[in-house]
Amino acid sequence: MRKQIAAANWKMNCTYQQGEELLDNILGAQIALADHQQVVFAVPFPYLIMANSEVADEKNYFIAAQNCYNKKSGAYTGEVSAEMLHSIGIKYCVLGHSERREYFQESNSTLAEKLDLCLEYGITPIFCCGEPLSIREAGTQNSFVEVQLRESLFHLSEAVISKIVIAYEPIWAIGTGKTATSDQAQEMHAHLRGVLAKQYGPVLANTVPILYGGSVKANNAADIFGRPDVDGGLVGGASLNASEFIAIIKALK
Ligand code: PEP
Repeated sequence: MRKQIAAANWKMNCTYQQGEELLDNILGAQIALADHQQVVFAVPFPYLIMANSEVADEKNYFIAAQNCYNKKSGAYTGEVSAEMLHSIGIKYCVLGHSERREYFQESNSTLAEKLDLCLEYGITPIFCCGEPLSIREAGTQNSFVEVQLRESLFHLSEAVISKIVIAYEPIWAIGTGKTATSDQAQEMHAHLRGVLAKQYGPVLANTVPILYGGSVKANNAADIFGRPDVDGGLVGGASLNASEFIAIIKALK
């Protein structure tokens, strides 16, 4: 079975102490994950080492950075490289979240460079894509998201495409309380898998986990995750509440 992942995106929330308590509460629930299930916490940079030591003895629990820079090293004050993340044992990195695309002008080509660096250092990128409301209303979401994949991912070889995770996050559903229906999520995920299949063949396309993100909560996770092409979720707001996120983890297939 494909990897099923519940990924928490804390964004710029929680003090160090609050973050530690949140992790303790979630890990304290001692949810045993099956071999194909994973939980990932994308935490702010200053908490990566603490969070990584919290999950060190837990099977299939991992820590992610929320971003990295698109250069290997050098005079880029304030930035964090993939090599630095690797050097502290980080296994995942969220790339291309819509907030980074919007507030930090991250382009598809910049993201392609970040993907390459993460893969070079053995870090699994969680590559975010998704359309704004205007595109959804115009009915052109499929081609919009296809271009995001084409321009950021399609330079990758067959050998590495199965090492990435995609998160489809319709921007109109992020932090708005407005969730895509499970039909809308399934429809887009099947489209994305088809796009991957055209480029890499159906066998490889079938290995890539595609997460849904956008107002996933305890009360809708099982419905959304239950669809055949939805392999879990990238969760913002609800991941900051231990009991909500515990229920979301339990909703994984
Ligand atoms: C996100 O930030 O990736 C996200 C999906 O946020 P929320 O769950 O709050 O909509």
